[in-house]
Amino acid sequence: MNFIKNIIEKSHLILLTLFLLFIFPSFSQEIKKGEVYSYARKIVDTLASKNMHGRGYINGGDSIAANYLKTEFRKFGLRSFNDDYYQKFSFPVNTFPGEINVKLDEKELLAGKDYIVFAYSPSATGKYPIVFVDEELVQKKRKLKKILKQDFSNKIVVVNDTGKPTEQLHNLLGNSCNAKAVVALKDKLTWHVAQKTNDYPLIEIARSSFIKPTEISLLIETKLIPDHTSQNVIGYIQGSEQPDSFIIFSAHYDHLGQMGKDVYFPGANDNASGCAMLLNLARYYSMTEHQPKCSIAFIAFCGEEVGLLGSKYYTEHPLFPLKNIKFLLNMDIMGTGEEGITVVNGSVFKKEFDALKQINTENNFIKEVKIRGKAANSDHYFFAENGVKACFIYTLGGIKAYHDIYDRAETLPLNEFENLFKLITAFGVYLQGSN
Ligand SMILES: [Zn+2]
Repeated sequence: MNFIKNIIEKSHLILLTLFLLFIFPSFSQEIKKGEVYSYARKIVDTLASKNMHGRGYINGGDSIAANYLKTEFRKFGLRSFNDDYYQKFSFPVNTFPGEINVKLDEKELLAGKDYIVFAYSPSATGKYPIVFVDEELVQKKRKLKKILKQDFSNKIVVVNDTGKPTEQLHNLLGNSCNAKAVVALKDKLTWHVAQKTNDYPLIEIARSSFIKPTEISLLIETKLIPDHTSQNVIGYIQGSEQPDSFIIFSAHYDHLGQMGKDVYFPGANDNASGCAMLLNLARYYSMTEHQPKCSIAFIAFCGEEVGLLGSKYYTEHPLFPLKNIKFLLNMDIMGTGEEGITVVNGSVFKKEFDALKQINTENNFIKEVKIRGKAANSDHYFFAENGVKACFIYTLGGIKAYHDIYDRAETLPLNEFENLFKLITAFGVYLQGSN
């Protein structure tokens, strides 16, 4: 058995090598240098601009972004499974449409830069004295008991966050002690999106911006929307030989939106960059000379940052049978790459991973193709859980901005973008021939 398997595997690799030597070089020359990059740059600049409001839930940011993607799909003549490329659905989300203001004594802090209001915070106003708690003390049982005996009901508890047990501590302080709010001091501010609110607000303040005050004033207006409607944007190109068989390229277009009236999270790397790859691929495959043998669907998912909602919804309401999907390649964080890429589910779908890695080795497109196992960290996840071969790639190296106000188009290098594009289209040729 093993011997036969070996021969089959070897012949598979020989065929792949032949393809790389004779077919791929002629095909790669058709990509004009600079064109992929400049189109990607335009998309990232547009999607990460202030006009898109962080592609979230204030001022219709996600819908403005969806409309932009739809317009591009239409421009390339992609087919739609319905009238308008949209797959709509609703979900609850906590939003920050109003005033946001935090003061340490009289010092006003800058939202996004000095602090973030944690995603699940409810509204809060007022000026309160603080109780400062050093987390190292809290880890000692006797000290903690003493702290818990205090009445925090009209105070803000400030925790010097030094490590992992902080989450328990927040809950403990917030729930058991009736504190007005909890403030955690952090080295890095990372924002999220939540679908509900907690009983108390949590403010994370950059440790470098904190001066130990006697009082903290809060003005936080939040609004829990019970049924926000958003949409996946889905188009496809029909295959010339196997129209019922699909490859899917996917990337989420939503980001975190706005925190207050003025501060928005651009989400250039996460994931305007993935959308830039998705649209570049849509443009490429829509050219007559690149028409694929099997069909290719392009899905821009919404609601990823809220908890992979768009891709989950799609797998529950697929537009063609999930078993007709040959492979799904999800792209999230495509903006750097000097250290290569990681392939989530690479060890689950080893045959496809090996092919991708070999294509890269033969052509020297990017520095490294790293393998990783299963992880529920982007939109490939629910497809794989439903029996679809699905991997997720993200770039490594370069700027570290993530879920903060610094993930901007201006500083996103896109330096390996064209090489990545070449790698993915070469992999696309392999996928069309695979079973
Ligand atoms: Zn993302």
